[in-house]
Amino acid sequence: MSAKLDVGISRRSFIASASSAAAVAFVAPRRLFAQDDGLVQTARRTASTDTVTAQKLRGNISVLLGAGGNIAVLTGPDGKLLIDAGFAGARPQITNALASINSDPIKHLINTHWHFDHTDGNEWLHSAGAAILAHTNTRKHLSTTTKVEGWNFTFDPAPAGAIPAEVFDDERTLKLNGTTIALKHYAPAHTDSDISVHFTDSDILHVADTFWNGYYPFIDYSTGASIDGMIRATEANLAKVSNTTIVIPGHGEVADKSQLSFYRDLLVGTREKVATLKKQGKSLDEIVAANLTAATDAKWGNGFRSPKDFIGDVFQGV
Ligand SMILES: [Zn+2]
Repeated sequence: MSAKLDVGISRRSFIASASSAAAVAFVAPRRLFAQDDGLVQTARRTASTDTVTAQKLRGNISVLLGAGGNIAVLTGPDGKLLIDAGFAGARPQITNALASINSDPIKHLINTHWHFDHTDGNEWLHSAGAAILAHTNTRKHLSTTTKVEGWNFTFDPAPAGAIPAEVFDDERTLKLNGTTIALKHYAPAHTDSDISVHFTDSDILHVADTFWNGYYPFIDYSTGASIDGMIRATEANLAKVSNTTIVIPGHGEVADKSQLSFYRDLLVGTREKVATLKKQGKSLDEIVAANLTAATDAKWGNGFRSPKDFIGDVFQGV
């Protein structure tokens, strides 16, 4: 790992430990590993105790942190637009956090991809008044039985009210609350259903689970993902942002271009090292034992994916 990257890690770790609200919001994923049952069951069961905080970003856009994937919120006369739905079990906290922003009714929901920590709240949000829009593959996965090997869990089809009523394939541009919202499908990255949501007037980019800020990412090979797809998506994200862009990751604190660049370097560097060792004939166990990500493990390995999980995810795709 380069000296440049190491310096970045120390600075980032310091910032993360000094950030109180975000630190509270992300205690939840760590707790998952203390449970005997699976990640999905535990996350759903404990969602009612997740702490949800609202953070104002720019203009009429905020983000809710702490109950599954990060939820962006746009307010205004057309009603609230939510980007992702979080865990269903966190409905009371999400309701309170939305009310703390203002009293605009919930009218629109966009799913960034099909995963449960971004769509479990679809049904209640739909019943509360939201029309749901997503990529075609989000509707496909929510409509059928879908197994995720990395979580060792098979999802039943979602209830009818949770299924996106409207879908698109490549891109879609909306105008709501006086704001332009540009949606763009990634080539398969974290899943085959990921989209970015760009609030172009406010220069805020929600990049879904192509970016985990401060946590090793999950790469869901079961539904089309790969490490190379994640890297391509991250390069596409970097091409869209400037030094003033606010970047909303799928998980972790709200970020900027420098943090996105750091993450790109982490993905690219780890991929290269794992690929080199694999080509030399090393087994996954031997590569895990090489501690390739030692410089970031203390901070980045405490989320949904441990250092071993992350190396395994990279190994699978090189
Ligand atoms: Zn996801």
